[in-house]
Amino acid sequence: MKIYDFLIIGAGSAGCCMAYFLNKEGKSVALVDREGIAGGASGAAGAFLSPLPGQKNIYNSLVNDALNFSLDFYKALLAEAVDAKGVLRVTNDNFAQDKLAQNNIKYDYFDTQKLKNISDDFMNIDGYFYKNAAVIEPVQICKKLTEESDFYKKDIKELSFKDGFYIVDEIKAKNIILAQGVGKSLVEIPYMKISPIFGLRIDVKTTTKIPFNIHKSISISTNKQDGTVSVGATHERHDSTKMECISTCEKCAFYENSDQSQVQTLLKQADELIKLKDLEIVKIYKGARATIQSYFPVIGKAVDYEGSLEKYPSIKNGTKIPQESLKYYPNLYVINALGSRGFVFGPYLAKILTQNILHNEPIQKDIATQKLFYKMARK
Ligand SMILES: Cc1cc2nc3c(=O)[nH]c(=O)nc-3n(C[C@H](O)[C@H](O)[C@H](O)COP(=O)(O)OP(=O)(O)OC[C@H]3O[C@@H](n4cnc5c(N)ncnc54)[C@H](O)[C@@H]3O)c2cc1C
Repeated sequence: MKIYDFLIIGAGSAGCCMAYFLNKEGKSVALVDREGIAGGASGAAGAFLSPLPGQKNIYNSLVNDALNFSLDFYKALLAEAVDAKGVLRVTNDNFAQDKLAQNNIKYDYFDTQKLKNISDDFMNIDGYFYKNAAVIEPVQICKKLTEESDFYKKDIKELSFKDGFYIVDEIKAKNIILAQGVGKSLVEIPYMKISPIFGLRIDVKTTTKIPFNIHKSISISTNKQDGTVSVGATHERHDSTKMECISTCEKCAFYENSDQSQVQTLLKQADELIKLKDLEIVKIYKGARATIQSYFPVIGKAVDYEGSLEKYPSIKNGTKIPQESLKYYPNLYVINALGSRGFVFGPYLAKILTQNILHNEPIQKDIATQKLFYKMARK
């Protein structure tokens, strides 16, 4: 039996980024996934990285801070998996001048004529160009992140904790990180209610030269280094109360039926932005984004909900109990609810969580497990 400092369950953007930062701190890591590396939502992602403009608030500040960190991080990690040519955000309600003025992200306005001068294939659109944006190759990135970890392909059904160690078959670990995306959590975390938002994206071949990523309700990438262009993604809510996500969307019968109509929707929306000549669909990807109601991601030590309320029943009536006094699952942490921005948030949040676990550095309260715990307990 091999003993590790950390066992990470889920090898998507969240789990792979955690593996990377823990390895960099000299920790040994076993990474487990039932599908393989980037076999869940992370393998389906575009994966576009772009700023969130609009009136400055806590959420878009978090996104934009994460973007700045993560883009530099990926370029240093694996430059050949990053196409950083910027993004044109085509005008919509979020771009009212007064909202933009309150946000410090730099942009250039491109009117229709300017876009036509760049390429005849642009439709009659205008928009705001942001330099700080990219499209990355998600599977290559995830594989690179995990080079120093041991990977095991396993479907973990339960956790057992004995004498200070978690034991899963031949793996023994002092600490656990749950990075399960939409998978059923291996411990009860009722305050982090994950809803899946399913999506489909396609890779196409086209003779059109696309100078930068284009985003309106969907995104079209620039011509990537492998010669394809990503177009995505759709957003579909499935009723997960009737059907638990136990595998990937590729294997989900319920999802299959809507493939063709979703591809048509994507192509129709793409057609309103730029003419994609000699179009050929190369591959369809499907996955489920994990979100919570507020759309914020969640990281931190997992609070034992029932145990904490049993210890301090008056929390329900609003008594303030400091977070250090709550009851926690031993050495067990979560990183989840990365939503539609898993590759923007991944490295940034993994760095913060690693610093928190190993060096006790604080986590911003908006994304901390404790915030959700108190919210539910006091309801
Ligand atoms: C179509 C689509 C397009 C997207 N486009 C973008 C984009 O352009 N930019 C962007 O930043 N984000 C995008 N996203 C979102 C992004 O993909 C997700 O936010 C991100 O992948 C989440 O990563 P994760 O590691 O939390 O989850 P996942 O990648 O889903 O990883 C969780 C893993 O846990 C494994 N697992 C769960 N339970 C168990 C268990 N019990 N035992 C073993 N393994 C288990 C699963 O097999 C899975 O591989 C997109 C998502 C989709 C679906």
